[in-house]
Amino acid sequence: MAWLTIIGGGLAGLSLCDEILTNFEDAGKPLPGAIEVYEQKTSYTDDRSFCFFADTDSIPKHGQNYSSWAFSQHGTGEQITHESKQHRYCRLRGIDVFTDLLHRLNAHSQVSIRMGYKFETHHAEGIVVDTRPAPADQFIIKQSFLGKEIKTQNLTQHQATLMGNMRLEQGQFTFDYILPTSSDSVLFEVTQFSVENLPREKLNELWCKAAQRHGFNNSEIIREECAVLPMGLKTKAYKRLNSQQLRWGTGYGYLGTKHWARNCAQSIMVDGQPRYPSKITTQNRFDRALLRVIKDQPHALPDVFMCLARQLSPGQFARFMTEPGFTDYWNVMTAVPKLPFLRALYGRD
Ligand SMILES: Cc1cc2nc3c(=O)[nH]c(=O)nc-3n(C[C@H](O)[C@H](O)[C@H](O)COP(=O)(O)OP(=O)(O)OC[C@H]3O[C@@H](n4cnc5c(N)ncnc54)[C@H](O)[C@@H]3O)c2cc1C
Repeated sequence: MAWLTIIGGGLAGLSLCDEILTNFEDAGKPLPGAIEVYEQKTSYTDDRSFCFFADTDSIPKHGQNYSSWAFSQHGTGEQITHESKQHRYCRLRGIDVFTDLLHRLNAHSQVSIRMGYKFETHHAEGIVVDTRPAPADQFIIKQSFLGKEIKTQNLTQHQATLMGNMRLEQGQFTFDYILPTSSDSVLFEVTQFSVENLPREKLNELWCKAAQRHGFNNSEIIREECAVLPMGLKTKAYKRLNSQQLRWGTGYGYLGTKHWARNCAQSIMVDGQPRYPSKITTQNRFDRALLRVIKDQPHALPDVFMCLARQLSPGQFARFMTEPGFTDYWNVMTAVPKLPFLRALYGRD
């Protein structure tokens, strides 16, 4: 019988396993028993990037980082660029992160990673940690995106365009994302926030239209990444990690997942119990209001995000995207246009 069963070998499941091994090693104690990780996929592929903001002391050793990031709104010609000395926008290739984790876990004699195994029963013995995501209909908003990493000679700047050409496409808030990945390649994505999942064909139409505008449409495609990321659980998460730790208002999840894995490993080691997020935090309250604006007033969003970009300093913006404190919320609340948020709070449009 396994001492610990982890359902789902995504970033959360593998990071948790890694943290547990590290904790026991650091404490000089043997693992109490075997760890089994069940993953329904049969392999890990180069299908995603993990991007996030970090301060200069915590930039990862690998991957890319960017000291400037930009925003622009369709039809106005306005572009706002943030330059930061203290913060970086960082990118890790998902496959590098998974390869590194698997390398360490597979080397441990008490860890088994069971690939291609769809876990069905809810009654495994021992400690069980469930990292399976909740079904898509449990979420308020979906962030659908299609990105293609392409070869290009048209690169002029090494900056990340986080929200470019913000606009409405068929009534839904849409923007372009451009990340140089080498001197002659770029990850070019189109993202849409909406209540419904956006099918891949529809995303591809949007991608081709946007790529044409940037002169990327005939470029050689190196790889693709496509996802519908859930934003904002309708109900509270109990006894499983079903929101993928994605920040409700942004869709960023890498740092939150790593943070959860550290805390959960501690909790298992000390109490023999996993820990799942349960509280509705200030962050979730603000993000929930933002999600209501996304749902009911998408036309207000280009202004909301341009106001944030214009009025927050690069450091304030980077902190808001990671672990905002009270002052960061205050700055954001004073920066955004008030009407959409008041309408969201009082349920009127
Ligand atoms: C294309 C893409 C780009 C992304 N970009 C970013 C980014 O730039 N920045 C960022 O912060 N986040 C990003 N994310 C989100 C980030 O990947 C997630 O926050 C993170 O991977 C969540 O990890 P997780 O383990 O909680 O969930 P998942 O990655 O969904 O892992 C859950 C695992 O459980 C497995 N599973 C499900 N059901 C079963 C079952 N019955 N039995 C066994 N296994 C099962 C699944 O196959 C999956 O591997 C991106 C995601 C994608 C897909």
